[in-house]
Amino acid sequence: MSRTIFVTTALPYANGSFHIGHIMEYIQADIWVRSMRMSGHTVHFVGADDAHGAPIMLKAESEGITPQALVARYASERPQYLNGFNIRFDHWHSTDTPENVELSQDIYRKLKAAGFIESRTIEQFYDPVKGMFLPDRYIKGECPKCHAADQYGDSCEACGAVYAPTDLIKPYSTLTKATPVLKSSEHFFFKLSDPRCVEFLQDWTNGTNAQGTRRLQTEVLGKTREWLGAGTDASQANLADWDISRDEPYFGIPIPDAPGKFFYVWLDAPVGYLASLKAYCNKVGLNYDELLEPGNSTEQVHFIGKDIVYFHALFWPAMLKFSGRKIPDFLHVHGFITVSGEKMSKSRGTGISPLRYLEIGMNPEWLRYYMAAKLNARVEDLDFNPDDFIARVNSDLVGKYVNIASRAANFISKHFKGELAYLGDTAALQNELDAVVQAVRTDFEHREYGRAIRQIMAHADHINQAFDTAQPWVMAKGIATATPEQQAALQNVCSRALAGFKALTVMLAPVLPALAARVATELFNDAAPYAWSSATELPARIEPFKHLMQRVEPKMLDDLFEPPAQPVPTPGGEAIADTIDIKDFAKVDLRIARIVSCERVEGSDKLLRLQLDLGEGRLRQVFSGIQACYQPDDLIDKLTVVVANLAPRKMRFGVSEGMVLAASHADTGVDAGIYVLQPWPGAQPGMRIS
Ligand SMILES: [Zn+2]
Repeated sequence: MSRTIFVTTALPYANGSFHIGHIMEYIQADIWVRSMRMSGHTVHFVGADDAHGAPIMLKAESEGITPQALVARYASERPQYLNGFNIRFDHWHSTDTPENVELSQDIYRKLKAAGFIESRTIEQFYDPVKGMFLPDRYIKGECPKCHAADQYGDSCEACGAVYAPTDLIKPYSTLTKATPVLKSSEHFFFKLSDPRCVEFLQDWTNGTNAQGTRRLQTEVLGKTREWLGAGTDASQANLADWDISRDEPYFGIPIPDAPGKFFYVWLDAPVGYLASLKAYCNKVGLNYDELLEPGNSTEQVHFIGKDIVYFHALFWPAMLKFSGRKIPDFLHVHGFITVSGEKMSKSRGTGISPLRYLEIGMNPEWLRYYMAAKLNARVEDLDFNPDDFIARVNSDLVGKYVNIASRAANFISKHFKGELAYLGDTAALQNELDAVVQAVRTDFEHREYGRAIRQIMAHADHINQAFDTAQPWVMAKGIATATPEQQAALQNVCSRALAGFKALTVMLAPVLPALAARVATELFNDAAPYAWSSATELPARIEPFKHLMQRVEPKMLDDLFEPPAQPVPTPGGEAIADTIDIKDFAKVDLRIARIVSCERVEGSDKLLRLQLDLGEGRLRQVFSGIQACYQPDDLIDKLTVVVANLAPRKMRFGVSEGMVLAASHADTGVDAGIYVLQPWPGAQPGMRIS
């Protein structure tokens, strides 16, 4: 029976580029979506940027741009990653859109009407230096449960506990390092502790979906049992109500009838799944309301990482349920990606850069294959091991699979004009293929990709063995003058190998969509993409074989992990100074300044006297040794960069309060030119450079 499935992946936060963990999740979901479509199911696969919240607001502020501009910059990068790895979302949206505002506010209004929203005046941490209420992620301290150090204000990465920032031990503001002070403010809470909520969640987490499978994987269910209490008695649960509001200044969706209050980004982020689907429906003419009507058979499936289970297994289904919407049918939770056994970290930079992978010319389908071979339906971490990667791609994918076609196709093209013919019982061959294909199809559906790949490769071994046992290269000797029976025997051996190759291609199609499409159209003259049922349709002819896939060069893996080459000092230049850390750099306060006036200094052939506006409400006098290279009038009204916290220096002509930055060759000096720095258009006096 044909199913309609709505599939999402977690929304990436739009303050950075994709990392390899995002790509792994999208590949996992993309494989599933493709395999379900091959069964004839209708799948709507959407994603979006998670655009709101304080981190984006603060990052945009520090760059002197609007949050929308920051989000747009990262959104514009997304396609090169997604297209690069053959990940095909039907639609990519943003949470900063009219659809999301409307849906989030509607969900809130319905929750409020049903008695699930409560307003309370709470004391919240406030950064007295920065002058704003501190978002949870900008407060760090010791976890109140497990006492791990440097944990964020909303949840502990060490033990998974969720708590209020005020529960932290020895808190500090990560913006200014100041000790935050408590200040009161009215906040809105979603009452997760409401007995109706607890009862519903115990039922939902434990239950099965329309397909008869559990909504949660065993490990995930175990985690929710801890949060919900083991029994069915709602009074045993210990769920904290969820603070869903934030005070201005905040980049987010306004809370209806509450001036100055915004939804916490985690409230509207998952609603972005619905907003993206809605925008997609409007684009292609589908009826969104009908598709997601409660009681409709549309299945709702979310692929997420193990770090956001609390939000997706408790808040999200409860929000949907009590606002009268369709509830999720399945949550697929995956682990993290490690590299040679080490947890990847953006800050330490031990991860694999997806863009670098593509830039050095590595085949995206190698990575898809490798990840598929290592993924399963459990919440396990996936380890990227370079040697294992080379072995699996070269020995399995190229050595076992691609080789079948290159070996068998040449005999068929050379001796039989591309015609395939089978001797004996083709029904038995079809049954044999069908048995493998059905097992593999089921594995993909149950997200057991590793097991599917093992079965596919076992069948490739089987085809290769049959081919080797028949020794077609021996049969082909003198084939032009051989008997029709001898010719038919060679044709049969090669045809069976190619029928097997076609079935393997169908089975690998969710993982290797580009390669499968080439095999379909270029070798077998079939329409792409393949359906599962194509696997047992025996091919009748082939086109001449074309090279299908390169082997991995071990050198590529070296390039993948090597940091990009450092710029080499130019002849006559100076060597790079000793390494400093970010704290050393942060000591230098660089600011944008406007040159208000500029004149030669009487009695000096080197200096210009500049009056600079650093946005401080006064002007600073700075002397700069650039007279040989600049006409004073050319500098007036230009923006430049100044060291603003340099100790004032008393000079013969007056006090200099800072230093204008300029570039030059150290040993050739003025003769080779001095170049005053100028920021890109849009910078304003007083902006800090970091
Ligand atoms: Zn903890």
